[in-house]
Amino acid sequence: MFTHIIHKFPIFFVPTAILIATWFLTPQIPRLSPDQQDLVLFAPYIVTIFGLFLSVHFHRGRPFMVLLMLALFYWSSQTLFLARQFEPALNKYFQAFILLIPLNMALFTIMRERGIFSTVGRVRFAFLAIQACGVLWLIDRHFFDLVPYIARSYIQWPIFSSLMVPQPAVVAGALCFTVIAVLALLRQAPIDGGMLGALTAFFIACNWITTRDIHVAYNTAGALILTLSVLRDSYNMAFRDDLTGIPSRRSLNETLHGLGRHYTVAMLDVDHFKQFNDTYGHDVGDQVLKMVARKMMAVGGGGKAYRYGGEEFTIIFSRCRIDEALPHLEVLRETIADYRMALRSEDRPKNQKQGKGSRGSRAGRGDGAYASVTVSIGVAESGEVLNSTAEVMKAADKALYKAKNKGRNQTCR
Ligand code: GH3
Ligand code: MG
Ligand code: MG
Repeated sequence: MFTHIIHKFPIFFVPTAILIATWFLTPQIPRLSPDQQDLVLFAPYIVTIFGLFLSVHFHRGRPFMVLLMLALFYWSSQTLFLARQFEPALNKYFQAFILLIPLNMALFTIMRERGIFSTVGRVRFAFLAIQACGVLWLIDRHFFDLVPYIARSYIQWPIFSSLMVPQPAVVAGALCFTVIAVLALLRQAPIDGGMLGALTAFFIACNWITTRDIHVAYNTAGALILTLSVLRDSYNMAFRDDLTGIPSRRSLNETLHGLGRHYTVAMLDVDHFKQFNDTYGHDVGDQVLKMVARKMMAVGGGGKAYRYGGEEFTIIFSRCRIDEALPHLEVLRETIADYRMALRSEDRPKNQKQGKGSRGSRAGRGDGAYASVTVSIGVAESGEVLNSTAEVMKAADKALYKAKNKGRNQTCR
């Protein structure tokens, strides 16, 4: 369980690395010449423009809108807050930003991606605009009525007294942080991880808003983290399979080009899957494919799994002979065959005969509350006879047909 969670943390790797790098680089800013320091003030805008461009290119509305919000915050901090005598607790715009940006970031993380210029995208823009107008109206009229609540210190801990951010914003921010972190861990989506990194950078920038270098550095870092998350997300779109989350056929092709002399290829196909879909429906079928993909990712012997297409998968054991790979494939085949997938009552076959009829899927056994599937595997290795990857793949495919013909639920070479 614990290691299971640990394996989900790499999603935060890039954002954390950028935050740490920013921490090391910020003290270097005063060493730059005055002209260079003036240029540094534009860094958040430059990175934001790049991020906005990428978001438009890849139709990513959520980072697009958050980047815009963060840029507006940076622009406001440079022109509105800091130009005059600045008292964070009494600056209404600062108070509005620090409460609303984290809430909006959490909201945009929860919401599904729906593009930028689509109908839903435009509705979201309108939502932001209405919010901004509402805030302007509210703080113009009632800000000083609200001050006792938003700028108040409810708890007198020393850790809070050193913060520029008022306590209600810390609590709201911590809540948003938790929501985004949980979503990022669950969904493993780079943009969720990017949102969390950008939120962290935003809080640091807010807390050190009067320290110019820190403020600029972390505004830049936030925009950079989001921009890189858009890039990472588009990479995943191209090289990861949408349904199962494992590398896709395109990724497999890249791997095949880079293989050395000795490797083993396994082709895996779910048995009687058409019938399984007919019995339980496409949704349960999709769940099965996800389960098979998960088990394949955990295969031993250094095997790397890919979705070849449909219900067919490929495992590449680079630098591994067929005899070394076979025991791991046997373990995988048995693990999948032994897996009992619990069914919701509405997914259970209405017709018991239909359930029993699906051969590969041992459904209908017991009370029909679970379904299971088997897979057939064909294996081939590179060598004297087969020296091109196309030949090895073809041989693995042939072996797969052999496994099917011999009655399925087995591994053949
Ligand atoms: P065999 O044991 O010979 O492999 O029989 P089969 O029924 O598995 O073979 P066939 O290739 O005829 O059927 C593959 C089925 O896989 C057809 C299609 O409905 C299903 N399938 C392909 N991709 C998906 C998917 O993404 N989700 C679901 N639920 N089903 C899929
Ligand atoms: Mg097939
Ligand atoms: Mg099949």
